[in-house]
Amino acid sequence: MTDTYTRLVSKGLGRDVAKKLGLPQPAVLRRYEPGQPLISGPVLVEGSSPGADALAAQLLEWDLDVRRHAVPKERLGAIVLVLDDLESPADLEQPVLTAAPSLRDLAPNGRVVTVSRASDGATPAAAAVRQGVDGLLRSLAKELRAGATGNGIVLAEDVSATSPAALGALSFFLSGRSAFVDGQFVRIGSTAGRLPADADKPLAGKVAVVTGAARGIGAAIARTLHRDGATVVVVDIPTAGDHLADVANEVRGTALQLDVSRDDAGQRIIDHAVGRHGHLDIVVHNAGITRDKLLVNMDHGRWSSVIGVNIAAQLRINEELLASEHFRSAPRIVSVASTSGIAGNRGQTNYAASKGGVIGMVRATAPLLAERGGSINAVAPGFIETEMTARIPFATREVARRLNSLQQGGRPEDVAEAIAFLASDAAGGISGEVLRVCGQNLVGA
Ligand code: NAD
Repeated sequence: MTDTYTRLVSKGLGRDVAKKLGLPQPAVLRRYEPGQPLISGPVLVEGSSPGADALAAQLLEWDLDVRRHAVPKERLGAIVLVLDDLESPADLEQPVLTAAPSLRDLAPNGRVVTVSRASDGATPAAAAVRQGVDGLLRSLAKELRAGATGNGIVLAEDVSATSPAALGALSFFLSGRSAFVDGQFVRIGSTAGRLPADADKPLAGKVAVVTGAARGIGAAIARTLHRDGATVVVVDIPTAGDHLADVANEVRGTALQLDVSRDDAGQRIIDHAVGRHGHLDIVVHNAGITRDKLLVNMDHGRWSSVIGVNIAAQLRINEELLASEHFRSAPRIVSVASTSGIAGNRGQTNYAASKGGVIGMVRATAPLLAERGGSINAVAPGFIETEMTARIPFATREVARRLNSLQQGGRPEDVAEAIAFLASDAAGGISGEVLRVCGQNLVGA
């Protein structure tokens, strides 16, 4: 659902008035639907490295209309800026300023994707230019208009631009699946991963568990994983049982009534998934609660319940998963964090501690999953239109909703798309990462 204000200012008199008054004019975002082309319009691949040539060849294989040089005034669906061979800050000017005029020709909902190298282990000059790409892309994303986004792929030293997860990330960033992801980087740490045989069913054959799935973001995750081909087990507390059953029916999966903070939650999840569906491949830790209070007024109940559900439960369940013989074949875990856990949020010290905790947990667990060919990542949503955010007082809500590059709140589906991507084998080379789905918050970290 598009918010009322966005609908009002997207056409006719509303658009003219908003323009005259200098009010925000959020674009209606192009979101993914099965069968939709990856991108509408030609893709300009800028850069002269072997990586740029290989990527251009790959995009041709995906049946995209690829340009290696800009055609004046041609409307572009996307610009892929390949910067994987830069050694010092002076190297940045030529490719960037060559691509710059083409930004004028980027179509509404167009995409800019940079492909660059990680700075760890590089010489000081190479590290400077590689980190420079970070600042460049984040600034450029703030300059784009009309629903266009800019995101970056960062390759570890021994990973090529056409490794499976780099291509998986490129496909995600180009497509409508990443509509509310803006100004973000994803690091490809290894050559692990595999592109799906059927791009519309990347999770075919997988069994996925989603916690907190009776409503909101969790229900959207269940629907998206089901759409992508997974068999889904939905988990929520017993008092949400009716809604949970509805979601389970809708996704033709099964329901498990369970408080994730119970000591035996991990074992019950494994027993249910394996007992009913034969195996367990994906676990999405989405269940989460808020108990907001300024720290000066914080009490034990608010603090311990938030830490208990949002992070302690995930740690305990992961321990059970890692110890289980049923979670060994390229298993994937995706946890829901929050931008509050990165930038902080007034009244949310307990929540931000728990969500910062999710990010730390994901980083430290990545090597443990790598041992079994698996991965673990976090998605950090910003302002998402749910029952939780609908309860925020109007003025505060309007500010929170507009203060990002896309000038609107995201939808539960936007978070679900990022989770579905990270849960897929196409993202196998990505682990220990945090992907923000926030439309590029303009304030905070
Ligand atoms: P929501 O309150 O609408 O849904 C959360 C679900 O989790 C509910 O169905 C609830 O019953 C379930 N749950 C709570 N405690 C549980 C427990 N102990 N065991 C099992 N299930 C439990 O919230 P939402 O907005 O859909 O948020 C989902 C996740 O996204 C949460 O982790 C939240 O912190 C995170 N998040 C949301 C936003 C946002 O803007 N809505 C932003 C950042 C992060």
